[in-house]
Formats: sequence, structure tokens, C-alpha cells
Amino acid sequence: MNRRLFLTTLSLSPLFANDIIYNSKDIYLSYQEYTTLSSLNSRFKRLRRYIGYANFNIVSFNTALYYARNYSKIGTFTKDELSLVDKLFSENPNRYGFYGAKTCTDINNKISTKDVVKVPYTGHYIFKGKAVEDYAKLKEDIGNTLVLTSGVRNVVKQLSLYCNKLSHNGGNITKASIQIAPPAHSYHTISDFDVGRRGWGYKNFTDAFASTLEFKKMTKLSYISMRYNKNNSDGVRFEPWHVEVI
Ligand SMILES: [Zn+2]
Repeated sequence: MNRRLFLTTLSLSPLFANDIIYNSKDIYLSYQEYTTLSSLNSRFKRLRRYIGYANFNIVSFNTALYYARNYSKIGTFTKDELSLVDKLFSENPNRYGFYGAKTCTDINNKISTKDVVKVPYTGHYIFKGKAVEDYAKLKEDIGNTLVLTSGVRNVVKQLSLYCNKLSHNGGNITKASIQIAPPAHSYHTISDFDVGRRGWGYKNFTDAFASTLEFKKMTKLSYISMRYNKNNSDGVRFEPWHVEVI
């Protein structure tokens, strides 16, 4: 199916009627890939349900394949899903307007539980060393209203977040890559973490976080810097919640 027909099909769907504005400069998934995206998203969801939210953050891709193969409730990844995964992991995202560094070269990247610390009541992990130390100092300097909203994210987790963004943006890869780092390019895979204000839920991942007392206090701490400031050279939107570790 060509792009025009694909977009016509999209516009006929009530789900997309309001939020898709076609931008001819942006790059989109093909119709076939867009269809595959939805089955891939459902498979990730079933995997997460099966292994649990916290494990899903650190599970490696080949362990995910193993679970999928052996547990019928998840089901084996299809050939089309695997080629979409490969494309999203391997393609150079410069063409989508993302210029951040590659942080992970192995799709089967392993994160050992020995190298991370589980942060109680969050479902998230933080890397031992500087990340754990920075987070502890932050809690001390800002107080208990500061919470960890996302920590270590291995390839599977980053892929699933990226695929969700792709889905919300109607298959627009350019737009998705402004909102989240592509799977091989996330600093969550090697160091960084996100913080928020307790009880703020989804608002912690919006510009509104920059107006909180927690954020204002954070900007005064010399040991903390933010990875994605306004107009950063990586091409990522302003993310006041994302703490740079290395
Ligand atoms: Zn982040």
C-alpha cells in the first residue's frame, strides 16, 4: 500500500481522526510495519504481565524471546515483528532527526541484578555506583516528595516505550524520536534515571514538572545536570525530569 492510501486508511479510523496531522517531511512506518507494530505492542504487554513490571525493565531481548517461545500466553514473536524490532534497533536515527549517541550495540544486552539496586515501591532499578549515590543525595537534599519515575531500562523496555510512542503518533518515526530515544540510544540502558514529584503521575513527564519546587531545588544542586535541556543537540524535547549520570 502506498503512503497516500495508508494515510487515507488512517484518517478513516475514528482513533486517529483527531490527532494525526500529516507532515510531508516526517518519516513514517509503512502500512505493513504499522500493522505489525500493534501485534508487537500487544506481545510486549503480555510479556510484561507475565514477568512483572520490574523484571520487564531489565529483561534482555533473548530472554524475552525465550519466555515468548515457551509460554503460550505470550506467544512466539512473528517474523514481521522481529524484522521491525531489528529495524528500530539498528537503523541510524539521524534521518528521523535524532542525533544522540548510541548507548547500546548489542540487542541482547544483559543487565545483571548484581549491577543494579531495586528501589522499593517504584518497580524500578538504578545502577550501582554514581547513579545510586546521586539518587540518594537527591532524596536527602530535596526530600521525600521526590520520587524515582523510571530507572534502568534494557533494550526490551526501551523498545516497548518507543513502540508505544510510535503507535500514539500514528507510525510517525520522526515525532516519536523527539519524544523518546530510539532503542539503541537510551541513557537509561547504561546510567540515567528520571525523577518526579510524588503523586503527580503522568504530569511528571510533561513540561509542568519544571514548575515544581522539586525541580527548582534540583537545578540548584551542583552535582546534578539534566540530559535533555531546551534545544539540546540530540534533538530530544525538553525533559526536566531526566537526570544525567554519565
Ligand atoms: Zn529519561
